[in-house]
Amino acid sequence: MNEDSKLHISKGVDNAPSLNPRLTPRRTHQPSLEELTAGVQAGDHAVLAQAITLVESTVAEDVHMAHELLQSVGGQNTNSYRIGVSGVPGVGKSTFLEAMGMHLLTTQENARIAVLAVDPSSSRSKGSILGDKTRMAELGRHKHAFIRPTAAGQTLGGVARATKQAMLLCEAAGFTHIFVETVGVGQSETAVAELVDAFLFLSMPGTGDELQGMKRGIMEMADIIAINKAEGELRTLAERSAAEIRNALNWLGTRQMDWHPPVLLISALQKSGLQELLETLERFRRHSKAQGWWDEKRRQQNLHWFEQSARELLWNELVRNPNWSEAYTAIRYQVVEGTMSPFQASEALLRLARS
Ligand code: GDP
Repeated sequence: MNEDSKLHISKGVDNAPSLNPRLTPRRTHQPSLEELTAGVQAGDHAVLAQAITLVESTVAEDVHMAHELLQSVGGQNTNSYRIGVSGVPGVGKSTFLEAMGMHLLTTQENARIAVLAVDPSSSRSKGSILGDKTRMAELGRHKHAFIRPTAAGQTLGGVARATKQAMLLCEAAGFTHIFVETVGVGQSETAVAELVDAFLFLSMPGTGDELQGMKRGIMEMADIIAINKAEGELRTLAERSAAEIRNALNWLGTRQMDWHPPVLLISALQKSGLQELLETLERFRRHSKAQGWWDEKRRQQNLHWFEQSARELLWNELVRNPNWSEAYTAIRYQVVEGTMSPFQASEALLRLARS
């Protein structure tokens, strides 16, 4: 065995999915379940923030309390609109969210806007989305808006689960539009697709990222595409990009539920094209509901989260076994050495769990 693999093995337990309850420090003050439920239902932003901190925790008692809270705040709110927003860094996601959020708040009296983020890289890189609240300064100050940066130091799966739960809390708190922002760099889009009703992909003029996006299959997931920065000199280039994307989308053929993703031109900076985009989002919502797809998608997503959560809880149960650390490290070592197949090894873990 070389030094590298030794190092790896010695870190065995820490390398396991970050569900180890011992890894998260205990918080000092914890409001009661009743306080959290009442505060969330009253739409109190400070309590909502505390409730989200609770669902982000991986401490075993917190996880249990978070599940109770999600149950006690009430069922799903079918009047909410969950919208995923993706695109490469620099495309204008936060500028767009600020502009669209303000547009909604000024044009719709009852609108309540929440912005959540799925960005597992944020604990490591400085340029993370929502890392800097000043990027949505105006929206952040509005009394009917709630902006929440992603939970740091978690895996993508952990962040996505916490975002799903944060979204349900926001709905219980009366938010009508919940935007889930993600960086357009790979797996996080797939995770976001398990969270939202509509997926909006932002692109920009002539960068070729529209084709890159297509390679990664992001275009296939997008329900609506908007070319941002379509103003001034960039307008012509933006029109050309839109035509290219429409063309490429035709190659993908007709989509599920008979929806052809519209390609729009917007400028988040100049606040143009926002009303048209909003109307398109509404058209998508009506279409999706009329086709029965809206409910079906939410049902499928719930099943996905049921299975995810069951896996997570079972894993936590394993980790709690007093013999876990030693046995896991030993079994893992055998897999690395090739003396046990990965499948046999997982059976050995199961025997450990039952012992
Ligand atoms: P993000 O990384 O996707 O969140 O992108 P940002 O919202 O931080 O925007 C990146 C840069 O693009 C900033 O300098 C913005 O001012 C700029 N930007 C955003 N939207 C527009 C737009 O509609 N037009 C122009 N010209 N610049 C924009």
